[in-house]
Amino acid sequence: MDALLAVAVAEARAGLASGGIPIGAALVGPDGSVWGRGHNRRVQDGDPSAHGETSAFRAAGRRRSYRGTTMVTTLSPCWYCSGLIRQFGITSVLIGECRTFSGGHDWLAENGVSVRILDDPECVSLMTDFIAARPELWFEDIGE
Ligand SMILES: [Zn+2]
Repeated sequence: MDALLAVAVAEARAGLASGGIPIGAALVGPDGSVWGRGHNRRVQDGDPSAHGETSAFRAAGRRRSYRGTTMVTTLSPCWYCSGLIRQFGITSVLIGECRTFSGGHDWLAENGVSVRILDDPECVSLMTDFIAARPELWFEDIGE
């Protein structure tokens, strides 16, 4: 597995282990170092805005520029997180999979963000197993 994706997957597994939704992310600096990492915390914090990407972004703290950074995420970023990526000028997005949920990655690519989708089987099984086990949690805020 891609080494950066492995960081996001470890976050997704930590989220699952603490009773949450298994989506993890990391914000990686231009030099390849991890600035921040995190996972979806909707269940743990009772906060529907605590997505994997926003958790990783907040963990990275204040930065002068996001040029050259990569948002690594186990799942295609939702509209809210896609907006965050564009708002702060994050250069690239590395996505574990977009089979179980398709968010804003096409829109990001159309607007100049470099998008890479790995179609990673571990990321797919994390979500399909979770949706099968806890459909009420997944469909709570997916907007369907
Ligand atoms: Zn999101």
